[in-house]
Amino acid sequence: MINRLAIIGVGLIGGSLARALKEVDAVREIVGFGRSVGNLQLAIELGVIDRAAVNAADAVRDAELVVIAVPVGNSGEILRLMAPALAPDTIVTDVGSVKGSVIAAARRALGDRFPNFVPGHPLAGTEQSGVGASHAGLFRDRRVILTPEIDTRPAATAQVSALWKTAGADVVTMSAELHDRVLAASSHLPHVLAYTLVDMLVRHDDHKAVFDCAAGGFLDFTRIAASDPVMWRDICLANRAALAPLLRQYQGELDELIRAVDEGDGAWMLDIFTRAKHARDALNKKM
Ligand code: NAP
Repeated sequence: MINRLAIIGVGLIGGSLARALKEVDAVREIVGFGRSVGNLQLAIELGVIDRAAVNAADAVRDAELVVIAVPVGNSGEILRLMAPALAPDTIVTDVGSVKGSVIAAARRALGDRFPNFVPGHPLAGTEQSGVGASHAGLFRDRRVILTPEIDTRPAATAQVSALWKTAGADVVTMSAELHDRVLAASSHLPHVLAYTLVDMLVRHDDHKAVFDCAAGGFLDFTRIAASDPVMWRDICLANRAALAPLLRQYQGELDELIRAVDEGDGAWMLDIFTRAKHARDALNKKM
């Protein structure tokens, strides 16, 4: 059992982790810190946290474990604010969707305490935000990626791994570099494509009719465009080194598609669509 857990950013992810740990009595006290008093009050009312701290340093004082669950653009500032109040053996982890930038910020903020920092990312979430959307089952049977560095304490990694397993998740480890490259393709690229497609269509002359006629395919493809824009701006900025080459590659694919449509090249289309269908069917079987 964890004696005191601090959650910085009690939103969808931070709140869901708190709920999952409370459900199995894995923690004695959860202290939350966030930006708005209203969200923290709601978190207390919902029983997600036991009390709210007045600032980040107060939140982490005497905590055994700290989970940072704010947008990645705010992680560095939070780490700087909490660092002076951390006990020598307090373990700190995060849930950010990009790992390289958060690790760099943690190195700067934590100094010789950096070995207690375990970078993490749960592959679970929805397009909703805030503690009101959190639920205890969010991580059940979902994967959590930990990206410990060469100097991360193995005991700290083991404890964070145990935390996520208690919340029902499967834990894997990989390098931060691989994580950011892979997630740029599997998550960040689809999100920016959904955002830009919806934005393009909403500026279309016939946009009213287009949205009136939106059916399953459109809704499936664009669900993630309802995600929090601040969170996704931060992710794009933090992972732009991996995302930009993929966007250029996709631009090349679009150029080919335009050519095929202009020229009526059905053979090209059938080839691409068939290969994609097989890959997507195989993914369905794995899920
Ligand atoms: P969320 O529901 O919006 O929660 C974020 C929380 O952070 C909010 O409670 C917010 O407080 C707080 N916050 C924001 N800026 C802050 C600051 N400067 N200081 C203190 N608290 C601050 O977002 P989320 O979906 O849980 O995402 C949190 C993190 O999880 C992000 O880093 C994201 O990359 C990662 N993640 C998200 C998903 C997903 O699908 N959503 C999946 C995996 C990982 P207020 O409510 O008061 O504004």
